[in-house]
Amino acid sequence: MPMLSKRDLDNKVYGLDQYRPGMEGLRDLAFRITSGTTGLPSLVVISRANTEAKRRFIVKRGNDFLFTIPKRVSYFKWMNDFLRPINGQRPIRSFMSADLNDMKTGRYEFLLSAHTPDAVVSFPSSYILESLQYLSAETRARLAERVKLVVTGGEMVASVEREHLKKAFPRAEMRDIYGCAECDLFSISCPILTHRYRNEPCAVFHPFDEDYKIEIVEPDEEGFGEIVVSSPELPRYRIGDIGALREEVCACGMRRTLLVAGRKDYDRIAVFGVVFLASLLMKAIEPFAQDLEDYLMEVRAGAENNERRGFVELLVIPKNGILSPILTAQLAQVLGALQVSKTRTLHSFVESGLFAAPRVTVTTHIKRESPKKIRLRRLA
Ligand SMILES: [Zn+2]
Repeated sequence: MPMLSKRDLDNKVYGLDQYRPGMEGLRDLAFRITSGTTGLPSLVVISRANTEAKRRFIVKRGNDFLFTIPKRVSYFKWMNDFLRPINGQRPIRSFMSADLNDMKTGRYEFLLSAHTPDAVVSFPSSYILESLQYLSAETRARLAERVKLVVTGGEMVASVEREHLKKAFPRAEMRDIYGCAECDLFSISCPILTHRYRNEPCAVFHPFDEDYKIEIVEPDEEGFGEIVVSSPELPRYRIGDIGALREEVCACGMRRTLLVAGRKDYDRIAVFGVVFLASLLMKAIEPFAQDLEDYLMEVRAGAENNERRGFVELLVIPKNGILSPILTAQLAQVLGALQVSKTRTLHSFVESGLFAAPRVTVTTHIKRESPKKIRLRRLA
């Protein structure tokens, strides 16, 4: 069966054709408007019955929910799709970034001092952290005491953010959820897994077994490839993220692990078995923050003298327009020292001839296809 990508869905309504008026469960259909950041907006049908089981998993762990979400209609719709139909009479309160002024004027404080939730859902995780600063020490302490579940999703939680969340909600069970707008939620993290993979540069989840089939296509030596999901409405959908799937029984009872390494060609690039991670690159470049306006590393698999060879180029925009020879040499050194396999640096692959020496190029403009600050890109 052929695979679909976001481009196939652009400007279309997808998944409706399999449903007919009068069909059982039809009133449970929901429409999902996907965002336009990775293409044109599209409309995908989601049958709510198929996703309810996953929500129950979360709902049964909380009684009084607080949502913090950015000001985006699709998120708001998602929140309503997510819990309201099965939450019964239990309260759900929400704060969006548009309400930030309310936070500053004390309405947020008033709301949370009157009704302290026991479950917090935040997309992305930074929203709840951001909102905490507008609360009094008493209210924060009450939240710390009462909140027993924190659900995050929408983007990967950085380890430093996870630490902040743990500090703010020390009694809470932390769960990250993972899915995509087009297919809905199809996996959830577990504390045992998060701890076990704490040193891996990826997020880890248990896929829900029923309804969704997950495949990894074009896997590299470590089993990382593009994640392809089949939902009841979308057959074989390329979600644009890189991951690996492992069959392993967890102490929590779940039987599969999905490792997610980020966006394809942006967060993790494997060339000839050499793996570049945007997170490691960003960490390595951090000491040069005051010298650089912007930067982007491009990786390409090519050939030189009939031998296959990888090429790495760091494009930089210096803050004052010029890059001193010392800085250029330092940056080249940083690139060479990048960890690109479990035990080896890029430098060692340059020495063995598999990669050309990394280049640092000064430029005045870096072209990006998406508004996101991409630091790593694969060139064809
Ligand atoms: Zn588990």
